[in-house]
Amino acid sequence: DVLISQIAAGEVVERPASALKEMLENSLDAGATEIQVELEQGGIKRIRVSDNGSGIPRDELVLALTRHATSKIASLADLEQVASLGFRGEALASIAAIARVQLVSRGAGDAHAWAIQAEGGRLEASSPAARGQGTTIDIQDLFFNTPARRKFLKTEATEYAHCAETVRRLALAHPQVAFTLAHNGRTQLRLGTESAVARVRHVLGDAFETNAIAVEAAAGPLRVSGWVVRPAAATASRDGQHIFVNGRYVRDKLIVHALKEAYRDVLHHQLNPAYCLFVELPPEAVDVNVHPAKTEIRFRDGRGVHQFLFHAVERMLAAPVT
Ligand code: ADP
Ligand code: MG
Repeated sequence: DVLISQIAAGEVVERPASALKEMLENSLDAGATEIQVELEQGGIKRIRVSDNGSGIPRDELVLALTRHATSKIASLADLEQVASLGFRGEALASIAAIARVQLVSRGAGDAHAWAIQAEGGRLEASSPAARGQGTTIDIQDLFFNTPARRKFLKTEATEYAHCAETVRRLALAHPQVAFTLAHNGRTQLRLGTESAVARVRHVLGDAFETNAIAVEAAAGPLRVSGWVVRPAAATASRDGQHIFVNGRYVRDKLIVHALKEAYRDVLHHQLNPAYCLFVELPPEAVDVNVHPAKTEIRFRDGRGVHQFLFHAVERMLAAPVT
């Protein structure tokens, strides 16, 4: 079982940022309004996520670190199945198989917190601990027992950059949640609860502060809101493109293309545009049957989505500056 977890984890936890993403999503799922992230050595040495969410009751602590379903590798097809489903209900268990994990949590009804440890998939009994309601997950020495995986890690600075990007993306989609991010003991980002526009400005910076144009459009069940930046010559870079579909950060060629066309139509140049857009559509209009840890998606009606976004953004860019 530990072996299966290691394989599944290796498939999905490519690097510290992927483990961090899973932990942040758990905190958000738990209704946290404050999330603290502390990293050491780009997250390779340590990823600690603390939240003030619902917490995990004592009798569910072990379950949280255990794979829910028994999986047996009978064939290569099965193995692929395990890998592709690896992170549905199993993120923590998978990470616990390839790191040293401490989970400290206190549920709403608990008199105090409980702590539990796992190392390379082996659990230790829970013991009393101190903290307010919520959960702290401390992941140390990612890949300590899978040296082949560890070898693929990039420099500390690169791994940190991926982690910071992960925090920024989730922060953009959740302006009502306060985030702090520290690296090697130094605070890198501090965001209070704020409006969506304030959050975009804080996370994406100056270009969005001075040149952003609000986008708001709907067509049937399709909706888009957010901001596009009319680029001042040569300022736009690729990092300026943020797309969320139903609240989830995605990289989607179709949307990127629609935006690029709209910019080109109106502004007649080929700079990489900067934007932060939230697209909403019925869940059944998006193909979710893709790798859970990846950011690609597929639209059932790609052409319709493309046209809708192209026209919405073109209209906003073409409007006179006020
Ligand atoms: P999943 O999120 O898909 O259920 P995970 O392995 O990510 O699987 O988490 C396992 C379980 O541990 C969750 O279902 C949840 O009950 C609990 N859990 C994990 N992190 C937190 C958290 N920060 N706050 C509350 N519960 C959590
Ligand atoms: Mg999860």
